[in-house]
Amino acid sequence: MMSVSVRDALRRAAARLLNLFGRSAQQRREDQERLRMAAAVFDCTLEGVLVTDRQGLIVHVNRAFMRITGYQQDEVLGQRPSKFKSGRHGVPFYQRIYATLAEKGEWSGEIWNRRKSGEIYPQWQTIRAIRDDNDELSHYVAVFSDISAIKHTEQELAFLAHHDPLTNLPNRLLFNDRVEQALASAQANKRGCALLLLDLDHFQSINDGLGHTVGDQLLKLAGERLAQVLGNGVTLARLGGDEFGVLAENCQQVGQAGKLAQALIERMGEPFEFDGHRLFISVSVGISLFPSDALSAEQLLRNADAALFKAKHNGRACYALYTEELTAHAQQRVETAGELRHALAHEELRVFFQPVFDLFTSKMVGVEALVRWQHPLRGLVPPSEFIPIAERTGLIAEIDAWVLREACRQMVRWQADGRTLAFVAVNISSRLFGQRELYRQVAQVLLETGLAPELLELEVTESAVMEDPEVALEQLHRLRELGLSLAIDDFGTGYSSLLRLKRLPVQKLKIDQGFVAGLPMDDDDIAIVRVIIALAHSMGMQVHAEGIEQAEQARFLLEQQCQLGQGYWFGRPVPAGELCWG
Ligand code: C2E
Ligand code: MG
Ligand code: MG
Repeated sequence: MMSVSVRDALRRAAARLLNLFGRSAQQRREDQERLRMAAAVFDCTLEGVLVTDRQGLIVHVNRAFMRITGYQQDEVLGQRPSKFKSGRHGVPFYQRIYATLAEKGEWSGEIWNRRKSGEIYPQWQTIRAIRDDNDELSHYVAVFSDISAIKHTEQELAFLAHHDPLTNLPNRLLFNDRVEQALASAQANKRGCALLLLDLDHFQSINDGLGHTVGDQLLKLAGERLAQVLGNGVTLARLGGDEFGVLAENCQQVGQAGKLAQALIERMGEPFEFDGHRLFISVSVGISLFPSDALSAEQLLRNADAALFKAKHNGRACYALYTEELTAHAQQRVETAGELRHALAHEELRVFFQPVFDLFTSKMVGVEALVRWQHPLRGLVPPSEFIPIAERTGLIAEIDAWVLREACRQMVRWQADGRTLAFVAVNISSRLFGQRELYRQVAQVLLETGLAPELLELEVTESAVMEDPEVALEQLHRLRELGLSLAIDDFGTGYSSLLRLKRLPVQKLKIDQGFVAGLPMDDDDIAIVRVIIALAHSMGMQVHAEGIEQAEQARFLLEQQCQLGQGYWFGRPVPAGELCWG
C-alpha cells in the first residue's frame, strides 16, 4: 500500500507535467508564429543574413544574402563563412572577432568580403552568438549590409577635401600632411628631403588680361607639365592661386634640388598653346632642405617661402636656396669655429705688425699687432674672416690674450735689440673688454714678459666702449692704472656721446679708415676728419689716422695737425722679422 504522502507527491508531479505540457504546447504555437514572422522579415530585409550552427557551418541564408554575395543558397549551405574571405584582413582580425563573441556574445564592425564574382567589398556586419535554454551555444547569426556605395562617397569626399578640383593635384592640406610624413620617415631613416615652392611669375596679368577661364586652363596645363617633369615618387601639389609645392624625398643635396628646380624652370619656359593662345610664363622657385635648413614641416615651408621671395627678388624665372645665405653660412661658422680652436692649440695663428708713423717727423714710432691665421689649406686668412666667428663663439678672448702675449714678447725682443719704438698697439675685442678680469690678465702678461707698461697700448673699439659706458669707464680706469695707454679704434663709426668721451681715460683716437679713404677730395670726409682732429685736441688726446694709402692723404692729415698715421702708404702688416726699420 502506498502511503498518502507518496500518492500526493505523484499527483503533484503529474499535474506539474501536464501543466508543463500544456504550456509548452502553447509556447510551441507562439514560437511557430514568431518563426513565420521572423522568416518573412528575414526574407524581405535588405540586410544579408547568414546563420551557422555551433560548428560554424552555414545552415541558413536569406534572399538579400544571395543578392549581395551572388551565391545561391545551395552553394553555401554546409560551408563555412571563411569561403567569403577577401584576404584583406589578417588572422589577428578574425581572432579579435571570436574573442569578442566569446566574451560579449556580439560583435559589429566593418569587414571586407568577396562576392562570387571575385570582387571584394566592404560590409557592415553584426554577428551574434545564440544560446539555447541550457545556455549552450547553438548558432551564430550574422546580419550585414553592403557599404561599398557609402565608402565610395566617403572616398570621393576625402578626395575632394584633399585635392584641388581644377588640377586634381593634392591641395595644401594633403601636402602639409605628406611633408610631415616624409620628415618623420626621413628622420627615422637618416635621409633628407627637399621642399620646393613654385610661383608662376606675373600670372595675375594673364588672369586680368585674358580672363579667368584662360587663367584656369593655364594653371591646369602648368600642373600637368610639372607633373611630367617630376614623375612618380615626388609629390606635386597646388597650394593655392598660382603656387605649387614639390616634395622630393630622398633629395638632400643642394645640387640635386637645384637641378630639379632648373629642370622645372626650363620646362615651364616653353610656350603654352591652347584655344588659339600662345602664352609664355616663367616660374620662380624657393628651396629648403631637410634636415640642413629646418627640422619641422612648418619651418621647412617657411624657409622655402623665404627662398621663393628671394628668387622673386632676384629677378624671377630662377631658383633660390634657403641654405645659400643662412644655413651654409651657419654651417661654415660651425666648421670654422672648430678649426679655430684647433688653430689656437696647434699654433696656426700669427701676429703681424703694421708700422705707425709720426707724420710730423716721418719716422716709425710704433706698431699695431694684427692677428693672422696660417690655415694649412686656405693659406693666410685675414681676421675679417674669423674674428666675427671667434667673437660669436667666445674664442676671441683666448685669441686676444694670445696676441697680447706674443706682441709684448716681441716688443721686449725689439727693445733688447735696440730697436726703439714708443708703443706696440694690441686690439682688444668687446668680448674680452667686457670681462672684469681683463686688467689682471694684462698685468700678468706684463709681468711675465717684462714689458714696461708705458710701451703697451690697448685699442678698444668705439662700439665696445659705448655698449655699456659705465662698465667701460670702470674697466678703462683699471687698465689705465696699470700704466699702459688706451686708444679708441675705428673712431667715428659708433655713436659716442661727447660728454662721455670727455670722461674716458683715453689718450688716443684712431680715425676710422672709412673717412680717410675719401681724403683729400670728399667734402664730407674732409669735414668729419677735421672735426675728429679738433675734438681730440680739445680733449687733450692724440689723433691717429688709419688706412692711409696715398701721399696726398698723409699730406692732408699733416696739414690738419694729425700726428700719427698708419696705412699701406707707410707699410703693410708684416711678420716681425720683415718690418722695415728705415
Ligand atoms: P683695425 O684694428 O682697425 O686694423 C686696421 C686694419 O686696417 C687692418 O686690417 C689693416 O691691415 C688694415 N689696413 C691698414 N692699412 C690699410 C690701408 O692702407 N688700406 C686698407 N684698405 N686697409 C689697411 P686687418 O689686419 O685685416 O684687421 C682688420 C680688423 O680685425 C682690425 O681692424 C681689428 O678690428 C681686427 N683685428 C685684427 N687683429 C686683431 C686681434 O688680434 N684681436 C682683435 N680683437 N681684433 C683684431
Ligand atoms: Mg686696431
Ligand atoms: Mg681701426
